[in-house]
This record gives sequence, C-alpha cells and structure tokens, in this order.
Amino acid sequence: MLSCNDHRNLLAWYDTHQRELPWRNTNDPWAILLSEILLQQTQVSRGMVYWKRMIEAFPTIESMATSEVDAVLKAWEGAGYYSRARRLHALSRQVMLPSDQGGFDGALPKNYEDLLSLPGIGPYTAAAVASIAFGQPVACVDGNIRRVMARHTAQPDPAPKAVQAWADSSLTSERPGDWNQALMELGATVCTPRRVKCGGCPIQSTCKGRHEPELFPTPKKSRVKAISMLAVVEIAGDGRPVLHQRPLSGMFAGLWGPLYHEANSMTPDQDWLVCGTVEHLLSHRKLSVHVFLKTTDVPPLGTLRSTVAISSLDEKVLAMAAKHQHAAQKREGVPQRAKQVNAETVAWS
Ligand code: SF4
Repeated sequence: MLSCNDHRNLLAWYDTHQRELPWRNTNDPWAILLSEILLQQTQVSRGMVYWKRMIEAFPTIESMATSEVDAVLKAWEGAGYYSRARRLHALSRQVMLPSDQGGFDGALPKNYEDLLSLPGIGPYTAAAVASIAFGQPVACVDGNIRRVMARHTAQPDPAPKAVQAWADSSLTSERPGDWNQALMELGATVCTPRRVKCGGCPIQSTCKGRHEPELFPTPKKSRVKAISMLAVVEIAGDGRPVLHQRPLSGMFAGLWGPLYHEANSMTPDQDWLVCGTVEHLLSHRKLSVHVFLKTTDVPPLGTLRSTVAISSLDEKVLAMAAKHQHAAQKREGVPQRAKQVNAETVAWS
C-alpha cells in the first residue's frame, strides 16, 4: 500500500523527470489513443516514429474511418502486430456511426465501459485513455505497474486481481491520468527489469523489495515455437517481385508478400535459386524462412512495391532474393535488370 508521502513524492518526481514524449503535449483523445495502441507492443523510441507517421496520415478519427484499411496498413508498415492497425480502422468506423446504430456520433467515448466495447481496446487501453484523455479515475495495469507492485509489496508472483486491487487502491482521484503515467514511467525508467535504480526512486522508503528488487517478480519462462517455412520470390518479366495479398486472418493478415509454404509441405523446384535463410522472431515464434528465387514461368508484370504494405520479415526476404538475383545475373554476364527498368524496381533491392 502506498502512503500519502508516496503519492506526493511520485507525482512530484513525475512532474520533473517524465520523458518528453509527443503525445504528452496534447489533450486530443485520438492522438492519445493512437499512442496507447502503438505502445502495446512497440518500444517507445520506435513508437514515436510510427505515432508521428500515423497522426500525420490520419489526424482525426474521421480521416481514418473514410480511408481504406489498406491505407492504414501501409502507414503502419514496419510497426509490426498488424492486427492492431486493422482493429484501429474498425474502431474508427464504429466511432463514426450514429449512436442509434451502435456508434458514438464521431467522438471517442469518455468512460471505461464504452471504450472497452470498441475493437482492439482491452482493459489496459480503456483505462489509460479514460484517465489520460478524459481525467476519469480508472487505474491502469500494465507490465511496468505489475513489476513496481511486485517489488513494492515483495510478492514474487502476484495474481492479476491482486495487482489490479493494488493499482485501484493507489489511484489518486485528483490527477488520475498523471498518476497512472507516473507509475508506468517509474517502471519504465527506474524500477526496470534489470539494473534497478532504487537510489533515485521516489517511493523507496516504503518499498519492501528494495534490498533485492530483482527477485520480484519471478521471471516467467517464455516458450518460443520454432517454425520453418519456404518463401518463393517470383521475379516478373519487368524485374519486379510478384507480391500477393495475404488472407485477412492469420500471420501478417492483409499484408502483401511472396508466397510462403510450410517447409515440410513441398519440395523446392530444381529451377529455383537458393538464396539463404532469414531468421525472424515474432512474440512467441521463431521463424526460419528459406528463401528461393523463381524467374521462369512468371507473369510479365510484378507489383509496384510502394503501393502495398509489407511486413519487415518480407522486407528481409525480398532484400535477400534481390541480392541473389543481381549476383546471379553478374555471374552469367547478363546486364543487371534493375538498371534497365525504372527506379521503383531498383528501390526494392
Ligand atoms: S525502491 Fe527500487 S524496487 Fe522499490 S519500487 Fe523503487 S525502484 Fe522499484
């Protein structure tokens, strides 16, 4: 349990030590929601880049709602976890609906329950937006707050309900948004997973775990599943890769890329050029993608790369294929096709 002094000290610490983040300089609920969705699975430094890109492309909910989902995926390109972008697009369309059709007449709702009813909004995001954008007294719980709680109360494995109860009882009604952000900021910059800086912590005097902070909470073992796949990059007659839109569910849903196959589901064709293997880590999956280049029996026209959204894994796969295509052409004394075609073709390599 945090004391009155803890409350005062933590808010004062936050007022002077908070990081300068662009979404902290706005009261616009849409801009704040965008930052919360991005930061769910993206580091703050990268989140800033994508937040600026998204807010420039879609400055209002309406601007996103009137766009196609492909345009949202394109702007989100590189940020990863693309289901967030698709749900954000669905959210924008739902908010724009009239209230008698299940919408919110174009304005983000202010209260926790209504926010929670929107696509892509879970308990954390609903609490963060309700408190930060609308000043509602709702406590957030994220990984940072769980770690601060576990250490402050010296609990190795606190249950989700216990963490929520601690956060609820700690919340100040005066500045709930700042309070939630202060606790998260403490966990992100001082009460960090490693190299904890207890000497600079504003709540150290009441912390039960400060003598051995790294004992709390007990690290969870993460199971990473290894998956092996084949990627077949087809190079069309115009020198561009042929990209296909993926189905709207499953890995990289709605994005574009070369065809993938499970490694044990097909035998590579003898005509394909072996390029190498790309290793890529998703949250709980380690992908080994064996890349092949196919240049025979291909369509005359490829895909204009700048018009479609592709994942960072496919960026790596295409770069590897392009490198091998150019190397093979050099070996055979064939002029590099990229020089013969337009700048877009050169760009994808
Ligand atoms: S004193 Fe140390 S362990 Fe306790 S909350 Fe502060 S930083 Fe975390």
